[in-house]
Amino acid sequence: CGIVGYVGAKPALDVVVDGLARLEYRGYDSAGVAVLADGRLATAKRAGKLVNLRNALADEPPPAGTLGMGHTRWATHGAPNDRNAHPHTDCSGTVAVIHNGIIENFAALRAELEERGHKLSSDTDTEAVAHLLEDALKTAEGGLAEAMRQVCGRLEGAFTLVAVHTGDPDLVVGARRNSPLVVGVGEGENFLASDVAAFIAHTRKAIELGQDQVVELRAGGVTVTDFEGRPAEVKEYHVDWDVSA
Ligand code: GLU
Repeated sequence: CGIVGYVGAKPALDVVVDGLARLEYRGYDSAGVAVLADGRLATAKRAGKLVNLRNALADEPPPAGTLGMGHTRWATHGAPNDRNAHPHTDCSGTVAVIHNGIIENFAALRAELEERGHKLSSDTDTEAVAHLLEDALKTAEGGLAEAMRQVCGRLEGAFTLVAVHTGDPDLVVGARRNSPLVVGVGEGENFLASDVAAFIAHTRKAIELGQDQVVELRAGGVTVTDFEGRPAEVKEYHVDWDVSA
């Protein structure tokens, strides 16, 4: 339902949780975050309102990192409980994924993954993507972005995906098909969101991703390609909404 990604110099957790709060108006049934710090991935997720996640984070604060992502879920596949909340991780816990939309062919993908020995731990359509990325990363020479391009080629349905990987600790990767994803362009920091409301407190410069595109987001820049890896033209625009902060 709601998606926020961040890489820069600020504490990622604050930026991401604040961004999720600004997307609350869209409605959701659970919320979660992932932060990359010191080459390690920390995740936290809770069913219910954002306050449940905030309380869990206050009880067990994740290590401070400057790269992270967050999700508010509106369940389509799997009950709205802690386990099915996003982010979802692979078997090794090195890849985390958040997702808006529906992966229509998830049952076939899940069966294929289980046959290859993957243990899936949720009832969502989303989790298959984390495991597919794990496998793709074993051979993808272009790292997480290349793995994402390969995996997107196998997905049917509508999706916005955002992923992080401990092997690429300065990178957030996003992808979209029939579901929105917007880049917020900052100074030494960049944002990803399903809706500009998540980042307009930080920047008014935005890039709307086109259909079937993958974005690589680093603190210093943004690269956009199609699912085949061909560079895409990006057009920056100014968000001139009038907002009360
Ligand atoms: N289909 C996914 C799920 O049920 C994502 C739902 C959403 O867009 O929040 O977990």
